[in-house]
Amino acid sequence: GPPADCPADVETLGRSSWTLLHTIAAQYPETPSAGQQSDIKQFMGLFSRLYPCWVCAEDFQAYLRRDPVRAGSRGEFGKWLCDAHNDVNKKLGKPIFDCGLWEQRWRTGWKDGRCD
Ligand code: FAD
Repeated sequence: GPPADCPADVETLGRSSWTLLHTIAAQYPETPSAGQQSDIKQFMGLFSRLYPCWVCAEDFQAYLRRDPVRAGSRGEFGKWLCDAHNDVNKKLGKPIFDCGLWEQRWRTGWKDGRCD
């Protein structure tokens, strides 16, 4: 890709954005309050409208209408977000990620200890 001090292209923007979103999921409470559930739903809706890649935003808004945010617990939101990311992976011909592993990838680190 281009040098890191150039404006973000779609790939760099995407990687950075998924890092932010999955890390928000990793910090999301196991038992969120009604207000925390409302915040995450509003955030995802606003994110889908403000995301600075027009086709990406259009498709993501359509995805949110088909499969509205599920945020009753950390596990539920993490799985919902993983499914949403896989929908983009599928569209782009990228490998489908095993959502059973999202917490190791984004919260705890891998069981083999390589992130410790
Ligand atoms: P990314 O897809 O950026 O993933 C980063 C890392 O996340 C991976 O290396 C892997 O470790 C992990 N990961 C992969 N899949 C999952 C998953 N399902 N759950 C959890 N972790 C996972 N690009 C376009 O060209 N067209 C689009 O329409 C488009 N729409 C997008 C919509 C949104 C909301 C976002 C945030 C990004 C979008 N992108 C789009 C960008 C695209 O998804 C990638 O971020 C970009 O192509 C860079 O891909 P990458 O191979 O580096 O890995």
